[in-house]
Amino acid sequence: MITYQVQHIADIIHAEGPVTGNAVIEHLLIDSRKVVFPGTSLFFAITGPRRDGHQFIAEAYERGIRCFVVKKDFDNHSFEQATFLKVPDVLLALQQLAAYHRRQFNIPVIGITGSNGKTIVKEWLYQLMHTNQHIVRSPRSYNSQIGVPLSVWQMQPEHTLGIFEAGISAAHEMDKLEPVIKPTIGIFTNIGEAHREGFENDRQKAREKAQLFSHVTQLIFCREALAPALYPDEKDRDFFQPDCNFFSWSRIENATLRITAEEKQSGQTLIRAQYQQKDIHITIPFTDRISIDNAITCWCVLLMLGYDEADIQQQMLQLEPVEMRMQLKKGVNNCYLLNDSYSNDTSSLYLALEYLKQQAGGHRTTLIISDILQSGQPEELLYHELAEQLVLHDIDRIIGVGQAISRYRHLFERVMQNAEGTTLNAAQFFDSTESFLQQANTNQFRDEYILLKGARVFAFERISHLLEQQVHQTVMEINLTAMIHNLKEYQKHLQPATKVMAMVKAFSYGSGSAEVAKVLQFHKVDYLAVAYADEGVELRKAGISLPIMVMNADEASFDSLVTYDLEPEIYSFYIYHAFHHYLNSQGIGQFPVHIKFNTGMNRLGFETGEAKAICVLLHEHRTMVVKSVFSHLAGSEDPHLDAFTHEQVALLEQACLVMQQQLGYDFIKHISNTAAILRHPRYQFNMVRLGIGLYGVDSVNDQTLSLQPVATLRTTIAQLRKIKKGESVGYNRMGVVQRDSLIATIRIGYADGYSRKMGNGAAQVYIGGQRAPVIGNICMDMTMVDVTDISGVREGDVVEIFGHHIGIQELAAWAGTIPYEVMTGISQRVKRVYVEE
Ligand SMILES: *Cc1c(COP(=O)(O)O)cnc(C)c1O
Repeated sequence: MITYQVQHIADIIHAEGPVTGNAVIEHLLIDSRKVVFPGTSLFFAITGPRRDGHQFIAEAYERGIRCFVVKKDFDNHSFEQATFLKVPDVLLALQQLAAYHRRQFNIPVIGITGSNGKTIVKEWLYQLMHTNQHIVRSPRSYNSQIGVPLSVWQMQPEHTLGIFEAGISAAHEMDKLEPVIKPTIGIFTNIGEAHREGFENDRQKAREKAQLFSHVTQLIFCREALAPALYPDEKDRDFFQPDCNFFSWSRIENATLRITAEEKQSGQTLIRAQYQQKDIHITIPFTDRISIDNAITCWCVLLMLGYDEADIQQQMLQLEPVEMRMQLKKGVNNCYLLNDSYSNDTSSLYLALEYLKQQAGGHRTTLIISDILQSGQPEELLYHELAEQLVLHDIDRIIGVGQAISRYRHLFERVMQNAEGTTLNAAQFFDSTESFLQQANTNQFRDEYILLKGARVFAFERISHLLEQQVHQTVMEINLTAMIHNLKEYQKHLQPATKVMAMVKAFSYGSGSAEVAKVLQFHKVDYLAVAYADEGVELRKAGISLPIMVMNADEASFDSLVTYDLEPEIYSFYIYHAFHHYLNSQGIGQFPVHIKFNTGMNRLGFETGEAKAICVLLHEHRTMVVKSVFSHLAGSEDPHLDAFTHEQVALLEQACLVMQQQLGYDFIKHISNTAAILRHPRYQFNMVRLGIGLYGVDSVNDQTLSLQPVATLRTTIAQLRKIKKGESVGYNRMGVVQRDSLIATIRIGYADGYSRKMGNGAAQVYIGGQRAPVIGNICMDMTMVDVTDISGVREGDVVEIFGHHIGIQELAAWAGTIPYEVMTGISQRVKRVYVEE
């Protein structure tokens, strides 16, 4: 591995003044939350429009980073052990360093630019060539001023080919990226409309992008995809090196690869072409135009590199789709929601429409779309084209949100009617997200696939929220102040250096993830843990930046893990290999993970004897880096199981010893859950995992703790009714009264998580300062209680199901279960409200 002395880096980036320290740098970092190897990382305090990297230096310092590249006028008095490299432009320094690193290698490097298709072409080239090349490439679509240097920094001596993509949105940006990538082979995919506003015209944009190719010796491009903006081997010949070879392809004119026919059949396309006076062909497992274009571009590369024809044919057949960064969620009334808010340009929209159609199968499809901002295209043309695309993709309904799109409603009304006969409501328009929300009724959406595509300012999260969930009268109140009180109670019992991982799995034990996580983050817990990746994604979307461990990640969630910086627990060789394979396929290395050992719980985990074998794999693959090693106790609350608990700990300690020796770097060690914190203080190690205690419940009735209840579940009385002695209440006439009675019907049932075991007097609720017993069977959405003995009860009164007056533990006992199940069983239709005192 190539490493750099910090002194050397100071020279490369022309840092000002004397530089102290002799740190060795292996990793570059721009995000203080992503610290993995603090000792060998260099933090670049990059300043963007929305954030100033210098504000995160304290956090990075706290996480162990000691070397920083900062802007000259930064005041650094409070960081004693830090080395600061001062430069006038931090981003430029990052690029200079990466460019220097790039110059250490003399291998072919493919540089890709163009308006669309960069990432897919890059990924497909990787799929096509990785069996006989050791390829380093941009992870995902790291193609920006920051992404490119970070991608190139990954180059190491073992690589035989580099593939990097570069994207620009304004003039003079490519001048900075060209020396970083320094491609020897260029691919110019096309000139489309994206970022048109950053340039004078398409020709200028094409020439700016072509800067990437100013030193290449081979250039691959599609003639009609660049014309009329650029003619590389004709009138723009002097723009390129004199010895540059051009490899063009075209459907309509003479070219190195002349496409002669495209035949689509049962999901495949046979593409015929003429090349060096010969007829050749490939078949790809796609039929859409974008995939065909991208595959042809890749074909050119393989031909240019001299790949054998039979080889090419065989590889092309096996191309796999490159995953899009979009998620499908279940919505109201059996709908599915596809929320694509990553970009708002039309090309990504058309890709999303295609994806929507693909997902929907035969179901109805609806597009909810905001004004398209900064397209650089005249509005009329833009919306006209959008209307055509709707027809082309056979979209059933459009809901336009925004004043611009509303001005062109006639365009849509026309095509939607043509397409659908005269369907009512096939095109609806609203001036703003607000007015949509006011008028929207979730019943308008049923059994359909809905694509949400909104520019950020339109805050489509709110629409997504509306379509995602339903709420009704019953409310669970979460007292966040009480939760923080509980956190502090436990912290009193921890060693100062012991970290806290807050368990927020299962919707924070039913309390609601994002809100709970936000206060925990504010009060500086060190880690969060969730059960499934989706829960982590929710947290990230809500702006949670703490590291998050995911305990039960599966293959379907790998993409989310990476996109949202979630750290999976690796508990078996199966999951290890699957994740390794995925990371490798994405060109990602050193992804943070947590290794779990089974020490007696016999649920998830490697056997402790497998520690060495895991390390061998980790070492060989280097796709993952171990942040922590842990195990889980089966009976920490039970004194009868203390001997077993000690055995479990001893096993984990052995495994950690092996891991430590084999890995050669530090990781966090942890085993204690809530009950163990007080009962087994010796086992706090570097971190504890605080779960149910946070929520105010601890089965260890320790007098040194004073926990406060966090959740209160309340509902209201829907109706009061007087009944006569001998009459019955509810299904199956189970609740027969022995006297004239007053019965209240309350708005909660087993569908809310109020177990049927509570029925027929088993449970009580709290009304008007007193307890009232449940009468009869619990219904799905309602429950009846006997309020005969309570005076002054009225319809609409509030009823406490649990909280300050009825403890969760008590309720759990009535249902023959444990508090965990009660808390997590409260269904999602029960609205959560948060209070802070
Ligand atoms: C849920 C969970 C915890 C927390 O347990 P509590 O008893 O709620 O403190 C700790 N570790 C693991 C692995 C868990 O799954």
